[in-house]
Amino acid sequence: MPEPESTVVAPSVVSLAAVPGYDDFPLLLSRLREAMQDLGGMEAFVQPGQRVLLKANLVAPTRPEQAVTTHPAVLRAVIRLVQEAGGIACVGDGPGVGDTRTAMAVGGLLAVVQEEGAEMLEFDETAVFENLSNRVGKRLSLCRHLQDCQVLISLPKLKTHVQMAFTGAVKNQFGLIPGSAKGQMHFRFQDRNRLADYLVDINRTARPALAIMDAIVGMEGPGPSGGTPRQIGALIVGSDLPAVDVVACTLIGLDPDANPLNLAARRAGYGTTRLEEIRLAGVPLADLQVHDYKLVQTPANILRILPLPASVLRWLRRQLSPRPSIDHRKCILCRRCTNGCPVNPPAIHPDAPPGQDIDEQTCIRCYCCHEFCPVKAIDLRRSRLDRCLHLNYLANKISRLLGKIVALWR
Ligand code: SF4
Ligand code: SF4
Repeated sequence: MPEPESTVVAPSVVSLAAVPGYDDFPLLLSRLREAMQDLGGMEAFVQPGQRVLLKANLVAPTRPEQAVTTHPAVLRAVIRLVQEAGGIACVGDGPGVGDTRTAMAVGGLLAVVQEEGAEMLEFDETAVFENLSNRVGKRLSLCRHLQDCQVLISLPKLKTHVQMAFTGAVKNQFGLIPGSAKGQMHFRFQDRNRLADYLVDINRTARPALAIMDAIVGMEGPGPSGGTPRQIGALIVGSDLPAVDVVACTLIGLDPDANPLNLAARRAGYGTTRLEEIRLAGVPLADLQVHDYKLVQTPANILRILPLPASVLRWLRRQLSPRPSIDHRKCILCRRCTNGCPVNPPAIHPDAPPGQDIDEQTCIRCYCCHEFCPVKAIDLRRSRLDRCLHLNYLANKISRLLGKIVALWR
């Protein structure tokens, strides 16, 4: 079982490395080594003989150039540093689609694991982990390899996310839940703020020691798999995972407080969630900032504070949330969307004609189908009401303003 939860000491250090691409591996390795020095080197996290679980970001079997998964060159560099510190590198993740081996093979990670003498771990078995101080999930079924690995290092990819606005260091631990069970969590936590609380609980239980974020090429637009690769040119390294996400969000021009996971981490007292409390090291943030990154318009948080009955709030949220829509010209009828839909029976039917292919009444707007579709055949359409009134935009502005006022009171 994991050791008791450690407290992150402020100010948290997050180091930024400038890495222009994946092709110059010696450069990538030396920049990562320099960034790690700002945190005391890999030896500060890995002791000789320890098994180190490198939690990659594997959504589905996709090629490295699609920028959905952790790039194999980043994985190779991390494995080298872990092995130099005397650790035993083990690599895995629980992809939403397919099995670990297939996703790693297509993503170029399996070859790296074999060439570097690391170990590949399937995330198909779970064990129960308990943390009574968690807010939502006090007993969690997570990948059982957490029991036989002494160190967990998270290797997220910087991406936008249609449901959560952003996915990075904290969100990456969702993959500690095996594939099919993730859908059940989407069904259980339909409110994204509740889901964010649950994700923070996973982190507080699994206790990743370090995050090394692949932000060399990120994803913009409708991520985490339907967006477009976007050059950023950075590696972001830190042992305080919310702090790593705050820096990553700032890098792409996203207000960190627009990321529900950042707010959930603040509610739980987990890590550092404000930029001014983070000690930045390495390359200045301003040198790597991308000013025209395409972000995601997220559903309005303000609905939570409106004094309306729950049924009305549910209806309003449904009206304001984008709905999935199948482009039947692109669809190859692979049925990944149906198999990945957490609703029972599934709310998506790719073989039905347009208009009958999505069950509007049962669809919970989790966007798993959008995430899993291999050919980007599922668009997210803004609702008619939202288009007419631009309420999302307005509501988010008001929500953030109210959040700042409430923060002043406290
Ligand atoms: S149809 Fe898509 S968005 Fe709707 S519940 Fe199923 S997976 Fe989620
Ligand atoms: S919409 Fe996408 S995931 Fe669903 S069946 Fe068609 S191609 Fe497959």
